[in-house]
Amino acid sequence: MKKNDVINLKITSATAEGSGVGKTEEGMAVFVPLSAIGDELSVRVLKVKKTYAYGKIEKIIKPSESRIEPDCPVFQKCGGCVWRHISYESECSLKQKKVEDAVRRIGGVETDFKPIIACEKTDRYRNKAQLPVGKSAGGELLIGFFALHSHRIVDCRDCALQPAVFSEVIDVTRRFAEQTGVDIYDEQTGKGRLRHLYIRLGEITNELMVCYVVNGNGLKREDLLIKMLRERLPNLKTVVFNSNREKTNVILGSRNRVAFGNGYITDVLCGLKFRVSPFSFWQVNRAQAERLYTKAKEYAALSGDEVLLDLYCGTGTIGLTMADCCRELIGVEIIPDAVGDAMKNAAVNNISNARFICADAPEAARQLREEGVRPNVVILDPPRKGCGEELVKTVAGMAPDRVVYVSCDPATLARDLKYFAENGYVTREVTPCDMFPRTAHVETVALLSRQNTDDRSELARSK
Ligand code: SAH
Repeated sequence: MKKNDVINLKITSATAEGSGVGKTEEGMAVFVPLSAIGDELSVRVLKVKKTYAYGKIEKIIKPSESRIEPDCPVFQKCGGCVWRHISYESECSLKQKKVEDAVRRIGGVETDFKPIIACEKTDRYRNKAQLPVGKSAGGELLIGFFALHSHRIVDCRDCALQPAVFSEVIDVTRRFAEQTGVDIYDEQTGKGRLRHLYIRLGEITNELMVCYVVNGNGLKREDLLIKMLRERLPNLKTVVFNSNREKTNVILGSRNRVAFGNGYITDVLCGLKFRVSPFSFWQVNRAQAERLYTKAKEYAALSGDEVLLDLYCGTGTIGLTMADCCRELIGVEIIPDAVGDAMKNAAVNNISNARFICADAPEAARQLREEGVRPNVVILDPPRKGCGEELVKTVAGMAPDRVVYVSCDPATLARDLKYFAENGYVTREVTPCDMFPRTAHVETVALLSRQNTDDRSELARSK
């Protein structure tokens, strides 16, 4: 097989990035973007490596039954969605398989896999957007998303994953920029002002936060911008300017200046009120987060008398939704603003049995262990890189009855489940949860308990 050959190929699997994969008669894997499992294709070979090749669809001989018509003009250009060309049902089975494969292959763990918790809304489910602002080669204003594996901005006026009001914020920003000739940031030179538009919406409260990331202190004619936003968006609650003067890929700088409102919005999750400020982590799919946390609560199987340790707690959400079912809640989070929010969230919801520590989770866990703290249940919700062996050892050393592990990366989850197995903890059950329909991401919640039988974890599973 060589470049430019046209071959017939049946697609039999898919990568997490949304490429279909087929095997040639010689056993060579060919990756074909935009194909679907079950497709019979005529494929033009674009690149040949030793054991695999890349191709593109020349003609669909027989389409897969899972195919649907992609309904977004920038699908596969913007680096966001990867599954807009197959049915949601097929997407869910791919995600289920991704989680099961990782846990089995990477973790070497066999367990009770429950069906994925599918999302009711497959579009308009996000409550947050961070949109890079730039200019095209021809000098046109671009507000959109980075193309996959690139820093080229794909202009996007109405992303199907975002609430419609975000498109209005984009439109007002665009008009303002055109009217006043805002100096747009250039990533290459590090010069120019406006870098990113960052928007958040409280789904239940309908409160809107608009944040502009600027290379400097603010923008000229901010007063006009705020006036334009307020006129168009009656639910605008706050406008914040974030200052980022560094030549970096990190979106937010360290300083916020509130230009309108209080600098935060509130929203509701599992019946509790939460304060969300620009720096704090807040689940982007609120409705689905409720389902995920409900499952986590089932797994925690609290009786009212436990000490609950919530590691990587963000604004305290998971632990606080369980605080009424335990004796004491201890949350650990590294971002000071999020810890501040977590404390305020406890107060606003009249929760008095919670305390929060601002620290690195492995470090804090070690210290708590040394102090003799013995949590009955530990919640883990780390970022993509997972917990790591050291933290797993510390947690196991505290001998909790149950560990509830919420993960946004099946591979690091699987690795950590293996560490837990080596330290006396059995993975009893795993439930994938689709927080991000149409994208490659999948969330998982796993229940672990100590090797010697534990009645309450049986109870947790019987629900
Ligand atoms: N449990 C929360 C947040 C989960 S996201 C929720 O569901 O809303 C992961 C959180 O871990 C983020 O808030 C991040 O700031 C925090 N984090 C990242 N590295 C950390 C570390 N080393 N120690 C403690 N927290 C950390």
